[in-house]
Formats: sequence, structure tokens, C-alpha cells
Amino acid sequence: MSTPLFPATLAGSLPKPVWLAETHKLWPQWKAQGEDLAAAQRDATLLWLKLQEDAGLDVVTDGEQSRQHFVHGFLEFVEGIDFEHKVEMGIRGDRYKAMVPQVVGPLRLKGRVHQSEARLLRAHTDRKIKFTLPGPMTIADTVADRFYGDKVKMAMAFAALLNQEAHALQADGVNVIQFDEPAFNVFLDEVPVWGIAALETAAAGLTCTTAVHICYGYGIQANIDWKKTLGEQWRQYEKIFPAIARSSIGQVSLECYHSHVPPQLMALLAGKDVLVGVIDVASDVVETPEQVADTIGTALQYVPREHLYACTNCGMAPMDREVARRKLEALAQGAAIARQRWG
Ligand code: ZN
Repeated sequence: MSTPLFPATLAGSLPKPVWLAETHKLWPQWKAQGEDLAAAQRDATLLWLKLQEDAGLDVVTDGEQSRQHFVHGFLEFVEGIDFEHKVEMGIRGDRYKAMVPQVVGPLRLKGRVHQSEARLLRAHTDRKIKFTLPGPMTIADTVADRFYGDKVKMAMAFAALLNQEAHALQADGVNVIQFDEPAFNVFLDEVPVWGIAALETAAAGLTCTTAVHICYGYGIQANIDWKKTLGEQWRQYEKIFPAIARSSIGQVSLECYHSHVPPQLMALLAGKDVLVGVIDVASDVVETPEQVADTIGTALQYVPREHLYACTNCGMAPMDREVARRKLEALAQGAAIARQRWG
């Protein structure tokens, strides 16, 4: 398929059906075990693939139906991590507490992480496939270190593992590999010092499209409360976008609609594809296609049209399933309106 103007895509995750896992939760419990769980995850992946295609998305994902959480879903496949003895830790600058596993030895992949999901998607769609992986800085902020004694060293070790899986995903036929780095919006001073280097290590040598997603988090209460402390204008991106613009990463997925990010900050990403968040994931109110098109119009003042994608602000994992489906429809319909207006 040729790529249209303003391709429609999503940040990554989608709600899990009620028969797969607990709903409306960020760390949901699965409803089955073993081979039954694996089969249910495959069914949910195919269901969401069909719904994304029906909605009209141009770049689709597995909806992260096989991961309990976007970070821990990767860590489960890493040797050197103790999942039996989780500890409570303040994450994202102590914004909220989470039960996290501990790094207790040298890190190594146990095997492939997302092979079955990637091959399942590739076998069932001709559309472009995006796969999300947690970024090294965000992983380092979502695990307790009892071994490396140095956050940067540990992040670099994770980056090497991410690179290994990313190359395998590329070989599976994945078109876009996106690293999710919400921690970039928290550790602003560390991003230019080592965050970008770790990200580039994770993406080293890839010939497929590479992306980084930087957001203000899922629509959970801790994040909604945090956003209230950020003031009238959210200028975090201003500190990190220049360094990202100089990096080798091809695409940047960011928050826009309903956020307090000054849209002119998108101009700091010259040369990159910008995946503009046109869908608010912290509200159950479904955007109209016209609202989506208007947000694309705002972004067009700062992003060249050939670099502009329509996307969600963040993942939709904790949302209501039907709301998420209708938001994807609005997203694709809004991109179609934008094509008519500015095509
Ligand atoms: Zn996000």
C-alpha cells in the first residue's frame, strides 16, 4: 500500500478484552494461564488488528495484547531479573509507586520477546506494522537495580538487549520500531547526556523506520494529578527536542490535543516525522473527525505536511474498549478530512 498524506496510526497499546485480562487497569491480571492464555492473546491481537483496519488506520500495532505492562512485558524475557521478589519503588520522578522487579545479575535475553505477535500480524495484514518496545531510560526507571550500581550502565545493558530484539522484529517484517520513553519527559537534564545515546544504541543498525514516543503518560489518576502541577504551559519538550532532532531516530510521537504543550515546540523537530497526538487518551469523550482535522491543521503550522502523521497522545491500554475503538475511527476519519482540506 502506498502511504497517504497524514497517515493514521496509534501510540501502541489498546484495551484488553474482558475475557483476556482485567479491564481498566495498567497492570491487569490475566484471565487464563499457559497455552490457554497464549491462545487468548493471539485471538485478542487478531481482533484488534481487524478493528484497526476497519477504523482505517494506515500503520497498525499488536495493541500490546500479549504484555501485562509495556515495560514489564519486555523484562519477563530477560535473564538476570528477579520477578519473584518485587519491591515498591517511586517511578517517573516519584510521581507514583509501583511494584517493580529487581535486577540481580548480568542481563541477557532468554530468547525472542515478540516473535509470535510480530509474525502473527505480518501473516494477517498488508498494512505497515509498528512494534513498540520500552526505551532504555524508561526501563531503568521501572526496575530496581541490585547489581549494576550505575543507572547509565544498566540502561546501556538494556539498550543492547532492545537492539537484539529490534533487529529480530525487523527480520520478522516489522516496518516501524518505536521506543517508548515517557521518562524523557521527567529526567530532562539526563536526556542529552545519556538518554539519546542509550536510545541510539537500542536502534543501532536498523534499516526499518525508527520512532520514539514521549508523552505525559496514560490517563491514570497519578498522571492527571501530576499534569495539574505542570503549569499553564508544558515546556518539557523544549528541553529535549533539540537533542532528539540531532539524533538518528526517524519519528517522534508526541502529545498535542488537550495538552498544554505549546504547539510551536513541534518546530524543534525539523527533519523528523512527527506523530501528532490528535486523540486524548485521558478522556472518554470521543473526538469528532472535525476536531481531529483541526488539530492536524494546527500542527501543519509547524510540521511540513510530508512529515505529519495523525496519532494518539499515548497508549490506550487502561481505557474502555468501545471508547478506544470509536476514538480510532475518529482518528482515521479526521485524517481523511485533513487530506481533503490540505491535500
Ligand atoms: Zn505514552
